[in-house]
Amino acid sequence: MKGQIKRLLLGHSLSPESSIVRNYIDWILTVPWNEKTTDNLDLKHIEKILNKNHYGLEKAKERLLEFIAVEKLRSEHTKQPIMCFIGPLGTGKTSFGVSIAEALGCVFVRISLGGIRDEAEIRGHRRTYIGALPGRIIQTMKRAKKINPIFMLDEIDKMGNDYRGDPAAALLEILDSEQNSFFSDHYLEISYDLSNVFFITTANTTDNIPPALLDRMEIVEFPGYVMEEKIEIALKHLIPKQILENSLSKRDITFDRKTIKVIIQNYTYESGVRNLERQIGKLCRKVSKQKINNSEKITKKLTPNAVESYLGPPQYFPFKAENVDEVGVATAVAWTENGGEIMPVEVSVVAGKGNLNLKGQIGEVMREYAQAALTFIKSRVKRFNINIETFEKVDIHIHVPEGAVQKDGPSGGITMCLAMISALTKRKTFHDIGLTGEITLRGKVLQVGGLRAKILAAHRSGLKKIIIPKKNIKDLVEIKDKVKKELEVILVDHMDYVIKIALHE
Ligand code: ADP
Repeated sequence: MKGQIKRLLLGHSLSPESSIVRNYIDWILTVPWNEKTTDNLDLKHIEKILNKNHYGLEKAKERLLEFIAVEKLRSEHTKQPIMCFIGPLGTGKTSFGVSIAEALGCVFVRISLGGIRDEAEIRGHRRTYIGALPGRIIQTMKRAKKINPIFMLDEIDKMGNDYRGDPAAALLEILDSEQNSFFSDHYLEISYDLSNVFFITTANTTDNIPPALLDRMEIVEFPGYVMEEKIEIALKHLIPKQILENSLSKRDITFDRKTIKVIIQNYTYESGVRNLERQIGKLCRKVSKQKINNSEKITKKLTPNAVESYLGPPQYFPFKAENVDEVGVATAVAWTENGGEIMPVEVSVVAGKGNLNLKGQIGEVMREYAQAALTFIKSRVKRFNINIETFEKVDIHIHVPEGAVQKDGPSGGITMCLAMISALTKRKTFHDIGLTGEITLRGKVLQVGGLRAKILAAHRSGLKKIIIPKKNIKDLVEIKDKVKKELEVILVDHMDYVIKIALHE
């Protein structure tokens, strides 16, 4: 640093060299080195703030309070794992982080790691590069102005890597309490102490998190909400917030439960409440406009009819459970960014030459699993009473109805297998059963991801039973009793058992 200042004093003030040096010194002087806020670690106070800002989320709140309690007791040398909030969009992960910062009385900052492929984005470029800057971590610390913020690292499941280095490796160092007091940024070149930072990471599922990172973190689930919870969240949080943001008062607009239910059912399709909040905001703005225009007819009490006149015809017609048992159809329960959804998988068997055709927005992985399912069926022809020669004389068509999102992943395996067996044997499937599970060539049913969201989707869509892999039993812990009462969850480890349950004799 001394050397840098000397160079600046000796050099010409307009030379490019001096501007590089000036920038560097500017960074060093503006990044916080010692400034700290004092954390309020009073558990009663923290609990009060968390409850004020968020409805439900009991597990996350409990886990956080335990975490703070340990933090209070811990000595310098024991370290805690990093928390990782897992859940679909709009389930409260970010706002919960903001709420923790409010409770502790510290600063909240966040960056998204989605799409980052280059380690230099995290660790910065060396100053020899033209236009070099520190990495995102140091840039964000500058924004925080304190050395002990809550620092949320979003979308750690969407990080990539390529020849420019692996950002996950840099992240490992940042999240490791043994190493992060000496974090090295290529630009700063002086080690920076991150050990006072409260890091929280977020992701949609654990599936794509590098195992070494996953190992360092403690998972806190944000699984999504059922209808009743969404209504409570709307009444207690989203509506008051939107009324305020749109310069209205409680007297200007009221929503009852029935209206909120209509908004949820017809204008949103999600596990979280992000779209619900957006739609409530839209309705508030319509009423604000009427108020400004001094319209005679100000809609104060929103009825389902008023909602339709403001938001237009219903936008969502998600697949609902079928109401008759049929041949060649099975219901897959799939994971999407918004949570989960059900979709019928249709199979037809027609005269042909032994081809397997897949139609609809189906990805590569799903095609492979369709092939695996077919191999399994061929290995069991006797059991299913299918003539092996049939396969030479027919083409099998699998169709997943088009949707906005491409369907991919291994979890459709057992559904495609069931629909194929149904079509080949002309035995009907039960219409009220949903399925998710990967299949092996020998018919074993393997664990899948996103299970909580899938169970909520099955419940929301009116299915009565869902078949899931036995290994996913751990994911059932946080499913609400109400859901478990209305949706029977059946655990299986082999396709033979699936057939017994889901196919007519
Ligand atoms: P995520 O980060 O999981 O995508 P957000 O934290 O951005 O979700 O939440 C979206 C919106 O929904 C925010 O306005 C948030 O306050 C609200 N919200 C989500 N869950 C709850 C809850 N349990 N109680 C109150 N508001 C909630």
